[in-house]
Amino acid sequence: MARIVMKFGGTSVGDVERIKNVARKVEQEVKAGHQVAVVVSAMSGVTNQLVKHCNDIDKLHDAREYDAVVASGEQVTTGLLAIALQSIGIPARSWQGWQVPIRTDDTHSKARIVSIDTTELEKRMSTGEVAVVAGFQGVTDENRLSTLGRGGSDTSAVALAAAVKAERCDIYTDVDGVYTTDPRIVNKARKLTKVTYEEMLEMASLGAKVLQTRSVEMAMNHRVRVQVLSSFEAAAGSDIPGTLVVDEDEIVEKEVVSGIAYSRDEAKITLIGVEDRPGVAAAIFGPLTDAAINVDMIVQNISEDGKSTDMTFTVGKADVARAVKVLEEAKGALNFQRLLSDSNVVKVSVIGVGMRSHAGVAQRMFKALADKGINIQVISTSEIKISVLIAEEYTELALRSLHTAYGLDAA
Ligand code: ADP
Ligand code: ASP
Ligand code: MG
Repeated sequence: MARIVMKFGGTSVGDVERIKNVARKVEQEVKAGHQVAVVVSAMSGVTNQLVKHCNDIDKLHDAREYDAVVASGEQVTTGLLAIALQSIGIPARSWQGWQVPIRTDDTHSKARIVSIDTTELEKRMSTGEVAVVAGFQGVTDENRLSTLGRGGSDTSAVALAAAVKAERCDIYTDVDGVYTTDPRIVNKARKLTKVTYEEMLEMASLGAKVLQTRSVEMAMNHRVRVQVLSSFEAAAGSDIPGTLVVDEDEIVEKEVVSGIAYSRDEAKITLIGVEDRPGVAAAIFGPLTDAAINVDMIVQNISEDGKSTDMTFTVGKADVARAVKVLEEAKGALNFQRLLSDSNVVKVSVIGVGMRSHAGVAQRMFKALADKGINIQVISTSEIKISVLIAEEYTELALRSLHTAYGLDAA
């Protein structure tokens, strides 16, 4: 008998029929003798709608109240799934984040889980009761509701799996695994049977939203066995129905590039005519950090006259309005001439652990994009990835061309 955590995303609980389908999947695991905790997302589209309500009233809303609003989606699905389970004879109860409790820090709208007290939950699980836990949410020390950032239910699931020492954490979604790139955009994308924690971490942080970045980080740190699989296809008939996230030494054949990710969630900000003096970067990025705004890609142009320069960087699209406000407020201290922001961009990244030992990977990317006439606006690299910022309208063209250029196309 094992203890397992199953997580179902928005599409998987998108309507009442689908929730009943989820209940039957949970029933199979219970009948196999397992103790089960299920983590659920809000019904698909619900979180987007709730976010929109907040923005429609005030784009610069209070993040604590945003959390109170958006956490409500998951409350509905926990109750509905518990009812669906009870109605087929499986004992179950719903748990909101604060009831477990799942404690987080107070970075509202993108809080981090600090601890999970599973004493009561485990006691009930050991009596055969299924715990239906709200993903995406927790509670702060000030007793306020918090949420974990978009896609955060994955992180709730992995954190819970670590806390209850689950044998595995199955992430059920609307695709049957992790692919070389988003299968909804590139129809030649190939399903990976295994992917390393490291590559998955890069792919997730670079936009492959199939798993939230922090869930992979957490799985890696706590050695949680994560599997991504479809909630719509029957798992029977295949040895590995989905994709397993594993250690590097479990993968025999390493590709130079194993995946391509994209993120439409970034926006570009350019400060024109910034003073070129020591400390200017700290002066720009300090206030953004204080406002909990993450900056990703950065380029600083060389200054022609030694006095002023341009600084370009990217922030999350959701943070643009606040970033612009923070920078405008600091204008006096920063002395820039103009501020430009552009949300019409996409970041495309190629990822692979094999890059460490192979040369020419970046050049192949630049050439493939150049051949299609796609202009690169910003470049950033790390040991196992290369990212470029391009105009958003080229997303699909860039992904398909790169997928072919790196020999990833399915036969
Ligand atoms: P859920 O609601 O179940 O959490 P998400 O929409 O968050 O599902 O994540 C699943 C989606 O991730 C897929 O529908 C797919 O379009 C997208 N995706 C992006 N990159 C990849 C990839 N490399 N492999 C699989 N899916 C990907
Ligand atoms: N419902 C939340 C979202 O849409 C959390 C999740 O689905 O993982 O971001
Ligand atoms: Mg998701």
